[in-house]
Amino acid sequence: MAPADCLFCRILAGDLPSQEVASSDVAYAFRDINPAMPTHVLVIPREHIDNAHELRAEHGATLAAMYELAQQVAHQEDIAERGYRLVFNVGADSGNTVPHLHLHVLGGRAMGWPPG
Ligand code: AMP
Ligand code: ZN
Repeated sequence: MAPADCLFCRILAGDLPSQEVASSDVAYAFRDINPAMPTHVLVIPREHIDNAHELRAEHGATLAAMYELAQQVAHQEDIAERGYRLVFNVGADSGNTVPHLHLHVLGGRAMGWPPG
């Protein structure tokens, strides 16, 4: 998918608004527009990757940087101690809607398992 056609590439380019939570050279964290939890932040790579099923060994450093930014978000949102959930949705059955890799950082209340 060309960046011009990708919702999250357009957010990264500043063409569409977002509520920034944290940022690094490799990744960007912003609030989900339709939060499912008291804290619901999306961590995305600045590089376009379709989804977690497309990750390869060459993406290792990018993926590590995404998890580091997610940890920073958890500290900033004060959910690091009580716990939180990190989720990659892949494909239709998971409910995946945006085809640019995004790590959901979810927290702020106790969650059920398994997910619905
Ligand atoms: P997924 O279902 O894993 O593809 O998650 C996509 C997420 O992106 C959903 O939780 C949406 O609420 C969120 N979302 C869609 N458009 C925007 C946007 N413009 N800004 C912030 N979050 C968005
Ligand atoms: Zn993209």
